[in-house]
Amino acid sequence: MNDKELYRELLLKLKEEIAEQIEENNETLTANVKDATGDHSSYSFHLADMGSDTMDRETAFWRASVGKSLFREIIQALEKLETGEYGICESCGQQIHEKRLEAIPHAKLCLDCKSREETGNY
Ligand SMILES: [Zn+2]
Repeated sequence: MNDKELYRELLLKLKEEIAEQIEENNETLTANVKDATGDHSSYSFHLADMGSDTMDRETAFWRASVGKSLFREIIQALEKLETGEYGICESCGQQIHEKRLEAIPHAKLCLDCKSREETGNY
């Protein structure tokens, strides 16, 4: 059995999905910027519309930044596969459970450390 190949496959698939999402988000951002600077009559620009425009753009920005950091984590995980550090918790150095890696192949922390981080920092 070759776990390394399995995880690499999972990571590459995820990487592709994220790349697509980032691209979609970029399109949303560009489209919104175009809308905002378009030749709308200022009188047809209701406050409510402007509000929802801003919301859309903020959501797109948020999703874009989440996507990019996720993308970075996937790249790092792929590098770790090569160096043999893959699947080791960055906090406690324990082996991350394989079920967790199958669900979140780019996981950097074991479940214990992750839940500790979540309750501690947020
Ligand atoms: Zn840990």
